[in-house]
Amino acid sequence: RQTIKEILADYKKFIHQDITIQGWVRAFRSNRFIALNDGSTIENIQAVVDYEKWDEHLIKNIKTASSLKITGEVVESEGKGQAVEIIVKKIDILGDNFSEEMEKTVLQPKKHSLEILREQAHLRFRTNLFGAVFRVRSAVSFAIHQFFNQNQFFYINTPIITGADAEGAGEMFGVTNFDLNNIPKNDAGEVDFTEDFFGKKTSLTVSGQLEAETAAMGLGRVYTFGPTFRAENSNTTRHLAEFWMVEPEVAFNNLEDNIDLAEDFLKFVIQYVLDHCKDDLAFLDKRFAEEQKQKPEKDRAKEGLIEKLEKVVKSRFKRVSYSEAIDILMNSKENKKGKFQFPVEAWGADLQSEHERYLVEKHFECPVVLFDYPKEIKAFYMRLNEDNKTVAAMDVLFPGIGEIIGGSQREERLDVLQQKMNEMGVDQEELWWYLDTRKFGSVPHAGFGLGLERLVLFVTGMTNIRDVIPFPRTPKNAEF
Ligand code: ATP
Ligand code: MG
Ligand code: MG
Ligand code: MG
Repeated sequence: RQTIKEILADYKKFIHQDITIQGWVRAFRSNRFIALNDGSTIENIQAVVDYEKWDEHLIKNIKTASSLKITGEVVESEGKGQAVEIIVKKIDILGDNFSEEMEKTVLQPKKHSLEILREQAHLRFRTNLFGAVFRVRSAVSFAIHQFFNQNQFFYINTPIITGADAEGAGEMFGVTNFDLNNIPKNDAGEVDFTEDFFGKKTSLTVSGQLEAETAAMGLGRVYTFGPTFRAENSNTTRHLAEFWMVEPEVAFNNLEDNIDLAEDFLKFVIQYVLDHCKDDLAFLDKRFAEEQKQKPEKDRAKEGLIEKLEKVVKSRFKRVSYSEAIDILMNSKENKKGKFQFPVEAWGADLQSEHERYLVEKHFECPVVLFDYPKEIKAFYMRLNEDNKTVAAMDVLFPGIGEIIGGSQREERLDVLQQKMNEMGVDQEELWWYLDTRKFGSVPHAGFGLGLERLVLFVTGMTNIRDVIPFPRTPKNAEF
């Protein structure tokens, strides 16, 4: 059984043959033309019914959103807009449409707001927009695996439930099998985790990095790609409580190798989408252009979506040290005129997304990689530079997104690492296994984390991260 995508891609082969297709009705015009979609592509296939031959009851039950199985002959289409159509010989209604209820849903054929579509996340898969977004998301995931596979990486899986909460990448969700109405406490009135399933306090992972590092110390080049959880308590268009993170970790790489890897990787995935998602991208490109028209002229994107993706693939990412970036920001007109919500006052400040986007969108007008951040604002495991003030950190910043990747060369020197942990109050006992890797053949190594959804936002031209993951998890939102 072929999908509609396969039939349309090779339609000449099917002419004058009988085929069977199954899908959902997108439109039924003049009791004669059924536009059927099976999810494989944004294109519908047109089935033509000679209604005089059919019983009225059947025709009456073919409505938008019902599901059908149709058998018929493939012929060249005389109408515009499609190469072939199917002259129907047999129709089965697979699923009725309870139309009164349907009218209250996003399946009703009219334009729905993204907010309403989000509330009906279980039905939005049927719309052109979300069909396109989730097909592109799937292609992005596939391309990620392909990139690493081609470059001799091994795909490893780090734990989702973790006993180490030292990373400090974000607020963690605890995991427990305690009866919440009857939590064991010790004499001091504290929760007694020794009674819990794992015998200690555990959480959902905020990053697989520390475990991935240990794997890289044996397998050389590894990557993780899995769900990641952060109890982000702010509502932004860039943060989810559950998102998918890709984390390569490479033994013998330094910061520059790491930046090269990130640049090659992003370009590969974007090129893959340009090559393999043409129909969906054309649709998203048109939508993006229409959305720009609604905006005041000064806020409009300078280029179309596809143009933007092609430009990034051809660009060379601008590599800028944190110190240079601070100079640029401090001396910018925006800063001097007080246009930033957080004014940039001195070296050492953490950059906000408004600053990152200024650098990318206004100053350099291309993707930017910032490196060598002050050690105080970055995690303990990043490698200390010779200046003793900065660490070998890197963030990749993208237009419209801000931070898309965060990474670093890791501190491989045991004594320096231990001193850093002391300074930053990180428990060494808890991370004994991590420290072990620095004792037995420690080597320089580096890696980064990419949030899958931030990349999908970029390639689809969507603006809210809730619209690029099938079931978004955000504060007060886990309906299904
Ligand atoms: P941000 O500054 O945007 O909060 P971060 O510096 O906290 O991100 P990292 O710990 O560096 O994030 O994680 C690596 C990558 O994971 C980020 O560059 C981003 O692409 C993605 N990411 C981080 N937090 C989230 C989140 N809550 N939802 C979706 N993606 C995220
Ligand atoms: Mg964060
Ligand atoms: Mg950050
Ligand atoms: Mg970061």
